[in-house]
Amino acid sequence: MGNKKLLFNIYTLGCKVNQCDSAEISRSLRGAGFKVVEKNAAWAIVNSCAVTATAIRKTRQMIAKARRENPEAKIVLSGCWPSAYWSEAKKNSSCAYFFKVNERKKIVNLIVGSQGQTKLEPTACACLIGQKIRYFLKVQDGCQQFCTYCLVPYVRSRLWSKPIKQAVLEVKSALQAGAKEIVISGTHLGWYGKDKKDKKHNTQNLTALVKAILAVPGLPRLRLSSLEPNEVSDELLDLVKKNHNFCPFFHLPLQAGSDRVLKAMGRPYSAQEYIRVISRIRKKIPLAAVSADIIVGFPGETEKDFTATLSLVKKIKFSRLHVFPFSTHEKTAASRFPEQIDNREIKKRADIIRRLGLASAREYQNKFINRSVQVLIEKKIAGAYIGKSEYYFNVPIKAKGNKLVKSGDLVIVPPRGIEPRFRE
Ligand code: SF4
Repeated sequence: MGNKKLLFNIYTLGCKVNQCDSAEISRSLRGAGFKVVEKNAAWAIVNSCAVTATAIRKTRQMIAKARRENPEAKIVLSGCWPSAYWSEAKKNSSCAYFFKVNERKKIVNLIVGSQGQTKLEPTACACLIGQKIRYFLKVQDGCQQFCTYCLVPYVRSRLWSKPIKQAVLEVKSALQAGAKEIVISGTHLGWYGKDKKDKKHNTQNLTALVKAILAVPGLPRLRLSSLEPNEVSDELLDLVKKNHNFCPFFHLPLQAGSDRVLKAMGRPYSAQEYIRVISRIRKKIPLAAVSADIIVGFPGETEKDFTATLSLVKKIKFSRLHVFPFSTHEKTAASRFPEQIDNREIKKRADIIRRLGLASAREYQNKFINRSVQVLIEKKIAGAYIGKSEYYFNVPIKAKGNKLVKSGDLVIVPPRGIEPRFRE
């Protein structure tokens, strides 16, 4: 297999931004003549997550897996774990090199430099071949909102936005390489362009970016990954309404339905304000998918607060709910709050609200049975093609006798039932 020293592998944990970062490292290395392999690589990069204690445990397991699968590899640990807990990560892992989240160029230079090559300045558009059908386009990094439970501002505080021209070029390259859906991603997307110094003449904002991408000829599908609820503008909603290829999907982290808890979390909206955002969305786009994150067991969350969250979730009827049991980080303000909730109680509340989330997802998906949705076929599993609808739920399509469908196709079909994982 050629020069074994040019083989590398990347293991990624955590959010879409981390996945984008790994893809950037991979593109740069491939652009410099390196090759991705699944095992026996010379370099194994573990791009870590530290958002919860579980994420750190999974990172440790991933390092062990990387070592097993690449026994002779030099292991590089990057991402949020070394960024947030440098000494702990160094002490508790057996990796050879450590890099923080914004040190991707250093990783590439280390690996490329090990072959005596000139150090490489990675370019975002280098070598997009081999990307997935759904392309995560990272356009923004950094958050300084400091919600009291969140580690992100401690590891990704520097604000950065990709220039619109560069984003458009990257979209064109991704489409040429076979991507069918562009997912605009960032740590805090609503802050896109906020890093620009010239506030008065700054034309770089999220709607301007979306308009520029929608103008790319032949763009099959566009989606926003996630938005803060207070950052959904009417202009953006109009763009979704008017452009059939801009998915009617909104992931708006709610976190809690009690104003008291939202305030303690440092979230800049009330429960009523959140409801008003959802009403604005549904008034313009009645069938829009609205999903959310919820944190249960935040310090001081009483039964009454939890009931307020349950009522809000029942009222809104989310298309999907992601439930996170609260877990502390010593760096965040919430870890020092009194009235930490017992883990058993957190688990009990998480189970209750997860059940509600599943019922809500079923109710939402039921609306589409025997109605037409547009499915982007991604893979074939156990005799069925699976793809995502514009509303973000998976739709299986029978593969037997269906020679017309293949990965990467966009097909219009009526879903025959709800996604298996949401069934009762
Ligand atoms: S907005 Fe809040 S939850 Fe989101 S990344 Fe920033 S600090 Fe974290």
